[in-house]
Amino acid sequence: MRRRYDRGPAVFSEGSFNSEGSSKAQPHKPATVTSTPAGLSKTDAGKLKIIPLGGLDKIGKNMMALEYEDDIIVMDLGFMFPGPDMPGIDYIIPDTTYLEERKHKIRAHLITHAHEDHVGGIPFILPKLPAPIYAAQFTIKYIERKLEEYKLPFKPEMRVIDQDSGQKIQLGAFSVEFIRITHSIPDACSIAIHTPVGTIINTGDWRFDNDPIDGKPSNKDRLKELGDEGVLLLMCDSTSCEKMGYSPSEKGITDTLDEIFVRNYNKRVIVASFSSQVNRIQLIIDGVAKAKRKLAIVGRSLLANTELAVKMGYIKIPPGLLVKADQIKNVPDAELVVLATGSQGEEMAVLNRMGRGEHRDIKLKASDVVVLCSSIIPGNEKDVWGMVDNLYRWGPYVYQQDMRDFDDLGILHTSGHAYYDEVKEMIELVRPKYYLPIHGEVHHLVHNAEIAKRTGIIKTENIFVIENGQTLEATKDETIKLGPIVQSGSVLIDGSGIGDVQEIVLKDRLAMASDGVFTIIATVNRKTGKLVTSPDIISRGFIYVKDNEELMNKSRQIVKNVFAKRNPRTPANSPIVKNRIRDEISNLLYKVTKRTPIVLPVVIEV
Ligand SMILES: [Zn+2]
Repeated sequence: MRRRYDRGPAVFSEGSFNSEGSSKAQPHKPATVTSTPAGLSKTDAGKLKIIPLGGLDKIGKNMMALEYEDDIIVMDLGFMFPGPDMPGIDYIIPDTTYLEERKHKIRAHLITHAHEDHVGGIPFILPKLPAPIYAAQFTIKYIERKLEEYKLPFKPEMRVIDQDSGQKIQLGAFSVEFIRITHSIPDACSIAIHTPVGTIINTGDWRFDNDPIDGKPSNKDRLKELGDEGVLLLMCDSTSCEKMGYSPSEKGITDTLDEIFVRNYNKRVIVASFSSQVNRIQLIIDGVAKAKRKLAIVGRSLLANTELAVKMGYIKIPPGLLVKADQIKNVPDAELVVLATGSQGEEMAVLNRMGRGEHRDIKLKASDVVVLCSSIIPGNEKDVWGMVDNLYRWGPYVYQQDMRDFDDLGILHTSGHAYYDEVKEMIELVRPKYYLPIHGEVHHLVHNAEIAKRTGIIKTENIFVIENGQTLEATKDETIKLGPIVQSGSVLIDGSGIGDVQEIVLKDRLAMASDGVFTIIATVNRKTGKLVTSPDIISRGFIYVKDNEELMNKSRQIVKNVFAKRNPRTPANSPIVKNRIRDEISNLLYKVTKRTPIVLPVVIEV
């Protein structure tokens, strides 16, 4: 059941989201699907559908589609990394069933920037929804390199857009332009889509860094111009809107790094940062050059991204600055900085391997200092602090964003996403009639909506807080209303990335991981169907068989009883027999151990 959202600070009279609990809401089943691939129904004529398929419930797997009669454009094809409740799952991508049923209509995929929650789904989704990809230069190069690792059945069509040219691309009923916006990666863009019912702006991930490292600020003039012309709907990033004020400029980190180099003038400095934050890599390079030190870059993703950015002119490295990892031992500590991966405590990243003493080229010393140029992404706290503890065991001092007051230092990280006042400024520039918070968990969306409401620029009933699958419909009279709910949800990608993993497989993996496996093997005579020996038991990750003879004997007795009571006409290896064994043994094991291992009955006929 759907009902008005009427709690909390914001009241949205359009009542736009399902507050009935996630079990009913996920995955959404198709409600009234009003168009069919076979043709356009009358009710769809002149109607623009706004279809969020990802990014509006959790941060990650961003995907938004616009559909106008026979044309569809898709914005971003992201993925999400799974939580610890999904063992063996590599990525989560959006459920794209709705678009697969209409794939002949898709004119283009427009990508806002090269972060994985916006491009990571491309290798898996593009084969299902083939269409040209449009993006700015760095993004296209990043995608091309990414796709080299996957064998796609066709060569995708890539089109580079110059986001500073004002160029408009006609894609069916849509005319599209990319607008430069600052974020934490080069060439991030907002997208303005001129549709037959009005102009729509998708901000992408953004913040207003008025003094960016690359010297290329957001194109606020164009945003304001579009606002003057009239914008029907603004879809706006919600990630950091709950933080008050303005996000600090990346340049603040420069001062902090300088200070750390001065304080530790006689020590080796190891800096860890996100490999995707190309501008920050430049900032660190500049800091190292200023401190007259050498820089060693270690870690596969960091090297790959730096190489790509250097090739494209987004990163400049002074000649003679770099040393190779295997040359580190030849550089005096006071003259060396190591830039490494692993600021989130990722298991295989360089910093974590150093912490465990497993890195080939770098052995930590008590005289080192480590600088984490990052903040802890929520959910990674345990991994990060575990790694930091390991680092301390070798003696170095560790500087962290969360401890900056303790160390009397400035910032070591800033968000790539707009704070409260930036969101407000964006709304004031664009002055849309309708507003849709995107890219966030529900509380982010609600607070973003609240900011919009407080500006007084947008009517409260024109602000939508919706979740994935809830469509909006815009018509020529410039009104937007809730549309039908379409199928949305998650597709789990495992290992090779080929098969989709079923929910049941995941449950089994979870049970195995937490409670282990209990296999019981019954060998029966093919003719008589009677047990020929006492059943064998193999237990893994559950209990040690030898220490639990009594439980094992009781389990064997259950199997014997099941066979003794078996209807002679039921085959010995039938599912009925195996299910009975499984149920009774599961009950016994739970009663005795309060654990629920996977019980696997195996019947072998000899
Ligand atoms: Zn981003």
